Amino acid sequence: MPDIADRLKNVSVSASVAMTQKARDLAAQGVDVVGLSTGEPDFPTPDHAIDAAYAAAKAGDTRYPPTDGTPALRAAIQRKFLRDNELKYDISQILTAGGAKQIIFNAMMATINPGDEVVIPTPSWISYADIVKFAGGTPVPVACHEENGFKPLAADLDAAITPNTKWLLINYPSNPTGSVATREEMQAIADVMLRHPQVWILTDDIYEHLIYDGVTFWTLAQVEPRLYDRVLTVNGVSKAYSMTGWRLGFCGGPLPLIKAMSNVNTQNSGGVTTLTQAAAVAVLDGPQDLLKERAEIYRQRRDYVLGRLNSIPGVHCHTPQGAFYLFVNIAAFVGKTTAGGRAISNDADFVMALIEEQHVVTVPGAAYGMSPYFRLSYATSMERLQTGCDRITAFCTGCH
Ligand code: PLP
Repeated sequence: MPDIADRLKNVSVSASVAMTQKARDLAAQGVDVVGLSTGEPDFPTPDHAIDAAYAAAKAGDTRYPPTDGTPALRAAIQRKFLRDNELKYDISQILTAGGAKQIIFNAMMATINPGDEVVIPTPSWISYADIVKFAGGTPVPVACHEENGFKPLAADLDAAITPNTKWLLINYPSNPTGSVATREEMQAIADVMLRHPQVWILTDDIYEHLIYDGVTFWTLAQVEPRLYDRVLTVNGVSKAYSMTGWRLGFCGGPLPLIKAMSNVNTQNSGGVTTLTQAAAVAVLDGPQDLLKERAEIYRQRRDYVLGRLNSIPGVHCHTPQGAFYLFVNIAAFVGKTTAGGRAISNDADFVMALIEEQHVVTVPGAAYGMSPYFRLSYATSMERLQTGCDRITAFCTGCH
């Protein structure tokens, strides 16, 4: 059989995708599965987005789009960056692609040479490291411990940067921990980066609007304008507007980088679906009240699940202030045996046994580069969360 490319050798299948598939398989067998692994909102896409897409289709907006994005959409993104982030980007500094994921992919493909390193505060979204490897680079994780709110210490960040470092990737609110960087913490990151002028910085702001407890969202180029020429500010409509299936991500950044990324874009895509672009203009320019209303519902769910989990002996979970994930510490269960007789020697064992014995699907911390934890998504109904918490409690209390 002909060969598969070497560049795929170290690239793994996303563990959260694998877990979600496991949940689907069990459900197809008729099992009542509580799926808490998926990283997507359970709310519907706003009607005005759907209406705009329909109107665009009816009006004949069904031809090849400009690859970088329609002028109308790039202008809406320009307004969004100014309104939400105090960032001024010229239209030429704005690029769209099929999701924030593709934006990140394009950025890495446009810049990474063999031997280049990419510093990634960890735990982190699974895809960062794999995209870096795909592009031929080396991911360099910087451990961010629970006692520091899963955020990097400036000294650790500084120590990880070498002459080979090409990028720093940051993500607040974070997947998988839900941690949010304060303005001071963002400034501390900026201060480190000012000392390393050869490094680009990508800020993945996809969970910007999922933020609780009155906390303010800050993005790096806003906090430190001296980094403006080195920061790629990445965002999208997936999480904020419940539009994961529409596939639109966008970014603002320095022109030379945007031009290089645009070059990648023209080779790996024909641009984002025209109807999606019309829908995105509608949500970016439309009423924003739904963001706060939905954030309040997420907060109530967070509080409920957090309270339930922290009341289970041996389980410990820090309080996240953003996104819709809990990153749960299960160190106390390593070395124990489940009620069903399964030995738990790490978080993957824990998560697998929880699926087998209680049909609750989560993702092991190992998939995000830190153990022993599991990630739980609370982007699902309160009723399912209650059932999930009941089952997790039964599972944990049955371990001995
Ligand atoms: N960035 C982070 C941190 C994510 O968790 C995800 C999705 O899970 C994405 C980006 C992907 O966003 P998009 O749907 O825009 O590709």
